[in-house]
Amino acid sequence: MAVEHADQFYIDGRWRACTTSASTPVVDPATEQLVGHIAAGGSDDVDLAVAAARRAFAAFSQTSVEERVALLGRILELIQQRAELFVDALVTEMGAAIAFARASHVPFAAEHVRVSMDVLRRYRFLTLNGTTATAKEAIGVCALITPWNWPLYQITAKVAPAIAAGCTIVLKPSELSPYSALLFAQLMHDAGVPAGVFNLVNGTGEAVGAALAAHPDVDMISITGSTRAGVLVAQAAAPTVKRVVQELGGKSPNLFLDDADFAQGVAKGVLAGFRNVGQSCSAPTRMLVPATRLAEVEALAAEAAAGIRVGDPRLDETGMGPIANAAQYERVQAMIAAGIDEGAKLLCGGLGRPEHLDRGFFVRPTIFSEVDPGMRIAREEIFGPVLSIIPYRDEEEAIAIANDTVYGLGSHLQSGDPERARRFAARIRAGQVHINYPAWDGEAPFGGYKRSGNGREYGMFGLEEYLETKAILGY
Ligand code: NAD
Repeated sequence: MAVEHADQFYIDGRWRACTTSASTPVVDPATEQLVGHIAAGGSDDVDLAVAAARRAFAAFSQTSVEERVALLGRILELIQQRAELFVDALVTEMGAAIAFARASHVPFAAEHVRVSMDVLRRYRFLTLNGTTATAKEAIGVCALITPWNWPLYQITAKVAPAIAAGCTIVLKPSELSPYSALLFAQLMHDAGVPAGVFNLVNGTGEAVGAALAAHPDVDMISITGSTRAGVLVAQAAAPTVKRVVQELGGKSPNLFLDDADFAQGVAKGVLAGFRNVGQSCSAPTRMLVPATRLAEVEALAAEAAAGIRVGDPRLDETGMGPIANAAQYERVQAMIAAGIDEGAKLLCGGLGRPEHLDRGFFVRPTIFSEVDPGMRIAREEIFGPVLSIIPYRDEEEAIAIANDTVYGLGSHLQSGDPERARRFAARIRAGQVHINYPAWDGEAPFGGYKRSGNGREYGMFGLEEYLETKAILGY
């Protein structure tokens, strides 16, 4: 696909040339073919974008709720109108299976905008207690750094609440999946976002991301990415005391209590772990099951994996496309090798591509059983279709294993007894607990305990990340 403005950035209401001559390649992961390059900016581009955002802030932060609701409404409408363009970009830039891009990537991205409109309409920006008023005000210029695994979805999860709050924005998308971001910048222009309110600078984390994190005129930085990058951003941001919001890695448990619906739940658990080719920070990749039920679980899990159609993401019937890029493919292969080396029982999948595919970053859906909680495949985020089944002896051991991780982003619980499930939910140290695979809720706060991050996205909590609190005494 040809994407316009690949050699430009969107700054101060127009497309302009990059100040450097650097670029990064864009590779279609299904074919391993180079499909283009995008400009890779530097600190001069960041300075221009931040200055534009700063100039725009005074007026935009004073716009009315009605004006911002209307603006978000135009953005939402254009996402819906241009859904197929985004789908095409996602298939090319990250190998998203086309049916999944249509059913999840794009509509869920749109849902962040709709939810932000809803929250904005009902949010109380001023509350009174006696003669003291508490005002919630836009925090200022926000730098937003997003990853490659849910490219459009991560952008709207940050941009929509920032706009709702009245903030101005410099977005740096992942250099590995940049096309949907270029389309999104044009969409913001066409939606009538005032000049300087939204700016886009492409480039690497080391150059553009780091310059944003350290910039003295950026008030807040929100990063979704690896824990490694999140730590670097916080370190770079510390001297200027900006707010740092981090949505980072995960190693989420899926805990089956003995009264769970195994017949349905195991297959759903496999598919949840492998959703988006396992490239989701909150993917439930550790399936904890009673040791007495292990054989039954293994059979159900292997059957579910066998039903997954891996292949060309452009075909409607494909359930799983390739891993999004070469570096991630190598990492997933290395982790599968680690599982084999450490002696986990390989139920299905394994090293290399599925037999029917001879190119592309395709991975075999892989399930290990009898995984020891100390093994690397039980501890490290893999970010690919690799599931670890871990048997436990009793409930106390189950909770201990579930919480035995440096992460705390997502978690799943399966049980036929709601009271029991709630008791367990209270003991899991994670930002979300999903009981019996509920539907996705775009208003539920999302974010991590422990090294999965700081702060929350989505819904009212997501909006509040972009707000400062001012007390006015004697109001
Ligand atoms: P990554 O950390 O390599 O990159 C994420 C973003 O950070 C990219 O835009 C990158 O350019 C930028 N970046 C990298 N180094 C930087 C630096 N020093 N300073 C500033 N910016 C920098 O992550 P990725 O490989 O793109 O994404 C996968 C990771 O993201 C996984 O660990 C996954 O768990 C995490 N993730 C988390 C969530 C969440 O909401 N918690 C959602 C999706 C992905």
